[in-house]
Amino acid sequence: MSQSKLKIAFYWAASCGGCEIAVLDINEKILDVVQIADIVFWPVAMDIKYKDVEAMPDKYIDVCFFNGGIRNSEQEHLAKLLRQKSKLLVAYGACAHLGGVPGLANIANRKEIFEKVYAKTFSTANPEKIMPKTEVHVKEGELDIPEFYDTVQTLDKVVEVDYYVPGCPPAVERTLFAVEAIAKGELPPKGSVLAPLKSVCDDCPRKKENKKITKIYRTYEKAPEPERCLLEQGIVCMGPATRGGCGARCLNANMPCTGCGGPCPNSPEQGAAMISALASILGLEEKKEKYTEDEVENLINQIKDPLGTFYMYALPASILRRKVVKE
Ligand code: SF4
Repeated sequence: MSQSKLKIAFYWAASCGGCEIAVLDINEKILDVVQIADIVFWPVAMDIKYKDVEAMPDKYIDVCFFNGGIRNSEQEHLAKLLRQKSKLLVAYGACAHLGGVPGLANIANRKEIFEKVYAKTFSTANPEKIMPKTEVHVKEGELDIPEFYDTVQTLDKVVEVDYYVPGCPPAVERTLFAVEAIAKGELPPKGSVLAPLKSVCDDCPRKKENKKITKIYRTYEKAPEPERCLLEQGIVCMGPATRGGCGARCLNANMPCTGCGGPCPNSPEQGAAMISALASILGLEEKKEKYTEDEVENLINQIKDPLGTFYMYALPASILRRKVVKE
C-alpha cells in the first residue's frame, strides 16, 4: 500500500446491519483508523450516491468491507461494481462470508417466501394478494425495484473475494486486525480468513471432563453451571466446529457458541463437523456402545431444529446450499 491515506468503503447487502455497528464498536480506535484512512463510500453514514461510485476510476478504493449476502439484483450489481472499483474486497461478517442467518431462507424459494410474508402472516391484511414486482408505475413514471432471488448467495459466489473477516458481527479485535494488516501490508495469502487457526473451544475457559451426555437441553430449559463445558452439560455448543478468534465472548456470557465464526480450517463442512462431535458424546448410558435404530432416532429427535442449530450461519456456503426447488 502507498504512504498516502487508504481509501476505505463499506457496503451493507443482505444482513441485519449489525456489521455496521461492529465498525463503530471499535470506539476510540476509530481515531487511529481515521489517521490512516479516508472513508470514501459508506451509504449508512454518508450522503453518497451509486453514481458517485460509478464515476470513480477502477481500483480507486484501496479496500472495501462488504457485509451481507447476495439476496437481490441490486446487491449483486453493487458487489460487481465495488469489486471493479476496489483493490481489495473483504467479505466482512458471517453473511458475506457464509450467507449468515438470512441464508436459512434457502429452505424456501421466492414464491414461498412472498406468500408467507405478504399473504399468510396473521398481521398482514392483503386481500388482493399484491406481491412485490420489479417494475411499478407511479405518477412520476416507472420505478425499477430490485429482483428478489430464490437463493441467498455468499459474496464469493458472485465476485472474487480477497479476504474474509468472520463473525456475527465480527469481534472488535478481528476488525482492528484486518485494518492494521491492510495498512501495514502484512496480509496472509489471498483468500485467507483473517482469524487464528484454532476453534472456539481452544479459546474457551470452561472445564472439559470428557463426559458423555444422555439428554440435550435447549438454552431456556437449564441454567448451566458457569465453569463447566456447556456441551458436557447437554447444551448444544458449536465451539468444537467453529473457528475461534472471537475471545469466546458468548461463552463468557454463559451462552453457547452458535457458530458465527464459520468452519474450522481443517473441517470446512461446519454442520457435519458438529454432528460428528455431538455423535461422539451423546448416548443413552455412559458405556453403551450399540444402539437400535429406534434408540438412535430418539436421540436425534432431541435436536429440535437441526438446520438452525448446525447451519445457523453457513447454509449457503455448505455443500447443502439450499433446498431443491421442483418447478
Ligand atoms: Fe467451551 Fe462450548 Fe467448547 Fe465446551 S463446547 S469447551 S462450552 S466452546
